Amino acid sequence: MSDPHANGVSRRSMLTSLGAGAGILGLAAASSAQAAALPAPASSESFDVVVIGSGMAGCAAALEAALSGAKVVVLEKVSQSRMGGNSFLAGGSFAVPLDTGEQARADYVEDYDKYCLGRGNTEIFKLMASHVLDDLKWLSDNGIEVLPAENRPPNRVATVQTAPAAFAGMPRLFKAIKERIESAGGVFVFDTKAKQLMLNETGGVSGVRAIGPSGVVEYRAKAVIIAAGGYAGNTQILEAYSDPNAGAMMVRGIKWATGDGLMMAQDVGAGLKGMGGLMALHIAAVDSVETAAGQPARAVPYAISINREGRRFVDESRGYVAHGKAVLEQPGQTTTLVFDESIRKSVAAPVIATFERLGVTVHQADTLEELASKVGAPVEEFVRTVTAFNAAVADGAAPGATPPKATLASRIETAPFYAFSPLAPGITLTFGGIMINANAQVLEADGRVIPGLFAAGEGAGAAFHHDYIGGGALTNCLVMGRIAGRQAAA
Ligand SMILES: Cc1cc2nc3c(=O)[nH]c(=O)nc-3n(C[C@H](O)[C@H](O)[C@H](O)COP(=O)(O)OP(=O)(O)OC[C@H]3O[C@@H](n4cnc5c(N)ncnc54)[C@H](O)[C@@H]3O)c2cc1C
Repeated sequence: MSDPHANGVSRRSMLTSLGAGAGILGLAAASSAQAAALPAPASSESFDVVVIGSGMAGCAAALEAALSGAKVVVLEKVSQSRMGGNSFLAGGSFAVPLDTGEQARADYVEDYDKYCLGRGNTEIFKLMASHVLDDLKWLSDNGIEVLPAENRPPNRVATVQTAPAAFAGMPRLFKAIKERIESAGGVFVFDTKAKQLMLNETGGVSGVRAIGPSGVVEYRAKAVIIAAGGYAGNTQILEAYSDPNAGAMMVRGIKWATGDGLMMAQDVGAGLKGMGGLMALHIAAVDSVETAAGQPARAVPYAISINREGRRFVDESRGYVAHGKAVLEQPGQTTTLVFDESIRKSVAAPVIATFERLGVTVHQADTLEELASKVGAPVEEFVRTVTAFNAAVADGAAPGATPPKATLASRIETAPFYAFSPLAPGITLTFGGIMINANAQVLEADGRVIPGLFAAGEGAGAAFHHDYIGGGALTNCLVMGRIAGRQAAA
């Protein structure tokens, strides 16, 4: 039998020499350097399925594979107390079609296509539409509570079904799913970082080399599932692929989402997709300390956003992602979101309540001048901007404002006035990922399947592009994770 390590090295060097862009060279070279430095393993263990990552995609995959009778191990690079990755931090919503009919599924797919400007992964959207309701029931059947769908948000075809409760929900989900995986025979190994995929003599994946508390361990397996999340915490990947300045942005979630899965997969020949430009990132303007929950998404389309020079710069009604990306271009990369008492009453009160619960200042003043000085904006310019905007509002829009506001425009005229300030852009999730097919099998760039290798979740499929509908990321993880688990166990 040939040495799988040697096989991996020859593929790596071929990739490195072929890589034309700085990003491609950067990823493969970083991964090769890590792998080349690995000493011989101190021990070896055998499983049917190795899952890398304990987030939503990894746990869905592990549970499905374990319930199918496979001997499963989940490798997680951080400690048990930090299990769950970005999924643990998520609001806990899954997006479901409005009903079980064909039309509702088609609408759901169309909705996602639209949000992703026609450049998302329609194949994955179709799978999400047809599987998510069954998969949520599967969670319930396995003792993982899921609440019924909420009322659908405005302007959306898709509605949202939530896990038990925002920010209390995901911890409960992870406690329950871990217990269920273990009761089905699955094993979790924490503080153990997967470093390198092993290849067999026919080019299939035969396991993972990982570093844990007792050194390098070889986890041999019939199949490996990469569910290691995205790359929001990897400055090198962000700067090479998204934008030279993207690495300076705040990371809203876990700092250790460093694209390990993408690098390991690329090392054995996998293709990557959807990595280029800011369209590959979900960016929201958030409080710079409370980056996870301190984001006023709900209020953005109704308020006006004013930069540190006292000017508006974006059509706020385009939503919080378009807003977050526009803030990147502003002086100092910060903004002030301004609204009045009417907007507070109609839409912003819950956001204020969240900010206050988090201890984040919500500025309030009886006059626009006072509000401007509270947030450190140039008073005259700030007031002129609000006054000009107010004058341009007619019938719920402000087409003559600079810049125009297409919809949801109302005059900022009823005291008291409020501001969330300063807000700065933060990356919520990354959209680029390992190429996969509908069976979650990892593909080379030319479409060839890499035998024995599967991937699911944020770092796989390039499901989304530019934007996603809330709940879509977790739905992708649940649906594609379960498919990966089923296929890997088979
Ligand atoms: C603040 C916030 C709120 C969000 N809210 C929502 C929401 O309400 N709805 C929604 O749909 N989406 C939401 N998202 C996005 C969503 O949470 C993520 O896209 C999704 O959870 C990713 O899941 P995953 O399983 O792919 O990866 P993760 O949940 O990030 O899990 C990956 C795991 O892999 C581990 N890992 C990485 N590398 C290795 C390695 N080399 N070896 C071993 N382990 C490794 C990591 O430590 C991590 O535990 C939110 C994101 C953030 C940051």
